[in-house]
Amino acid sequence: MPEKVLIIGSGPAGLTAAIYAARADLSPVMIEGFERGGQLMLTTDVENYPGFPDGIMGPELMEQFRKQAERFGTRIISSNVSNVDFSQRPFKVWVDDDRYESDTVIISTGASARWLGIPGEEKLRGFGVSACATCDGFFFRDRAIAVVGGGDSAMEEAIFLTKFASKVTIIHRRDEFRASKIMARRAIDHPKIEVLWDSVPEEILGEDGVTGVRVRNVKTDVESVLDVEGVFVAIGHTPNTSVFVDHIELDAAGYIETTPGGTATSVPGVFAGGDVVDSVYRQAITAAGMGCQAAIDAERWREAQHGM
Ligand code: NAP
Repeated sequence: MPEKVLIIGSGPAGLTAAIYAARADLSPVMIEGFERGGQLMLTTDVENYPGFPDGIMGPELMEQFRKQAERFGTRIISSNVSNVDFSQRPFKVWVDDDRYESDTVIISTGASARWLGIPGEEKLRGFGVSACATCDGFFFRDRAIAVVGGGDSAMEEAIFLTKFASKVTIIHRRDEFRASKIMARRAIDHPKIEVLWDSVPEEILGEDGVTGVRVRNVKTDVESVLDVEGVFVAIGHTPNTSVFVDHIELDAAGYIETTPGGTATSVPGVFAGGDVVDSVYRQAITAAGMGCQAAIDAERWREAQHGM
């Protein structure tokens, strides 16, 4: 028997879709992916999610979402989707050798951290190079570290890391931050944070651990070595859509195309919401909102198709 609805991805969008679909009696099956809970699992304090006036830790928020989805009967598969076939209904979704079928699929696979692609980065990942201050900040007590990027993530990571590090240097390729004014101000004013403007990392130095970063000033071309023992990369994200290429319309940056104001994709019966469609807002609350929309759209679409 095909499932009534399959949900792919388990961040705020997927879990909200699951809560709504489960409460609409659609017994959703969620394939949660290897990055269970999505990007909020890599975040510290979430201060802007409504309903938590004192803030909440990202992983704790996702645990609450998950409990709520399970409470209404969502079945969660802890694996990654390896392939899909959306050419005819029921759609087919594979998790290795296991095949799931449904006429209705909600995609909420989110986006993942981007890396710099410079020498030393891959070799030293997990040995001083990280994209997750929450996970790895603890290891850098009283050490000097660098954060790369100029957006809200870089500010957030830098501020969080001051709890452990002796000094945090933000390396940013321009002379102003992209981050919101309040976050940028908090970072710039922080006594433990310094900013290296107009600079890009060229190489991460070290053999078994980070010993420094070779940095180039893009205006003067002068190179220098910054003595740090950790490098946190916070330069944005890429949508997780590789498994959907050739199965569904994606935009030039790889985000799933949806109808304006809705969640329908180019394949009738396949809906999408959250960071996998949204390169603009990218907030937990907007992702959750789109997950809700996707579940309602899916339910209405099923009703129109099946009268149930
Ligand atoms: P982002 O806003 O896209 O910023 C990425 C930053 O990395 C930019 O400053 C960019 O420089 C820089 N960058 C990109 N590629 C680079 C490269 N190859 N080398 C060096 N620098 C590079 O990404 P984000 O900071 O992850 O934020 C994403 C979204 O989430 C935003 O909408 C943000 O507001 C939101 N967010 C909110 C919060 C919060 O409110 N608590 C926390 C985190 C994120 P340029 O500026 O020169 O492009």
